[in-house]
Amino acid sequence: MQFSELNLPQSILKSLQRMGFKELTPIQEATYPIILTGRDICALAETGSGKTSACAIPLIQIVDSNIKSIQGLVIVPTRELCIQYVDEIHKIALKTQVAVFAAYGGFDKSIQVTKLKHGVHILVATPGRLIDLIYDGVVDLTGIKCVILDEADRLLDDGFLEGIELILSCIRQEHQILMFSATMNEETKKLANDCLKNPKHISLINKQATPKSIEHYFAYVKRETKEKALFDYLRRERVNQAIIFCNARSMVDTLHRIVRKHFRDVEYIHAGLEQGKRSSIVRRFRAKKIRYLIATDVAGRGLDFSHISHIVNWNFPRGEQYTHRTGRVGRMGRKGRALSLITHHDIPAVREMLSATKIKPHWFGIDPLSQLSAPHRSSRRPPRG
Ligand code: ADP
Ligand code: MG
Repeated sequence: MQFSELNLPQSILKSLQRMGFKELTPIQEATYPIILTGRDICALAETGSGKTSACAIPLIQIVDSNIKSIQGLVIVPTRELCIQYVDEIHKIALKTQVAVFAAYGGFDKSIQVTKLKHGVHILVATPGRLIDLIYDGVVDLTGIKCVILDEADRLLDDGFLEGIELILSCIRQEHQILMFSATMNEETKKLANDCLKNPKHISLINKQATPKSIEHYFAYVKRETKEKALFDYLRRERVNQAIIFCNARSMVDTLHRIVRKHFRDVEYIHAGLEQGKRSSIVRRFRAKKIRYLIATDVAGRGLDFSHISHIVNWNFPRGEQYTHRTGRVGRMGRKGRALSLITHHDIPAVREMLSATKIKPHWFGIDPLSQLSAPHRSSRRPPRG
């Protein structure tokens, strides 16, 4: 279905045309009419499938720009995602009177307070800063019509749940809640249902939450040979841009020091960096000034970079995070490759991930899942490209 077939105001339609959006993506088509009826939804669709605009387009329509109050509230788990989300809404709402604003931690609060007092219709925020601003009496929730939880399962996990419940409990009037993610386990679904009222569950995930355009490679390595395996891989592949994920900030720091001795245009990002630096790194990565980005999971969810060709798991992630990390490539049908460097103690987690995601792995050398005792010799290499 084309956007021109929807009953969209010309102002929104023009912006979508300028952005090159013609056809609705499947999740946009599935959710758009339901969102406009005012019903709560919990929607699942693969990484890179256009969930941001699936929310943003109807949200801009729901908002009445003649009323000076926050009517749409989008909550996201990271500061970088907050900036990206607000940019996309801003582009779509450019020709409308709808004012959009991002409030996130690590950025001068007084500037955000001034802007909020000036009048904002759609606020995109991270939970911590939002709670701060609610306590300070700067964010008034009494006009809220629609709340969006993006990366909903992350927002409902231990780190954020209490904050989200607190925020939602501050909204007393009737309102609609929209939850979006690529992943949601049964436990989180129950938590989601507790927050939602008669929700419509929409899942476009049949077998896999990861796009088919991603090839998943694995290499079984020893600790001592891991560096060499990484360097060989990066040299052998035609890497446009890559993110190399580690599980801890200290590992990111260490690996950054090592990799930069062998490769050019290497940077790193984690939550220990000052926010100005974090934002600047994301901007430079988008502008292709950085080729290899070494990162924690702060870059593991939601971020949309169009030039990334490769994802490497230096450390194997836990739970659904494999889907999110690798989902930084293969967006909107583009091709992408993921390599996970596996050591012995990762085997149970790899097995679990493969069984949960139904991903078909390609092994370089030994497949430790089927060949635990007798190593086999075939050394598969992916074709160049
Ligand atoms: P998700 O949240 O599902 O991971 P995003 O919302 O980040 O995916 O969208 C991925 C990319 O697709 C973004 O660059 C976005 O601008 C683009 N996009 C979204 N909807 C459309 C569309 N209908 N047509 C073309 N591109 C789109
Ligand atoms: Mg998203």
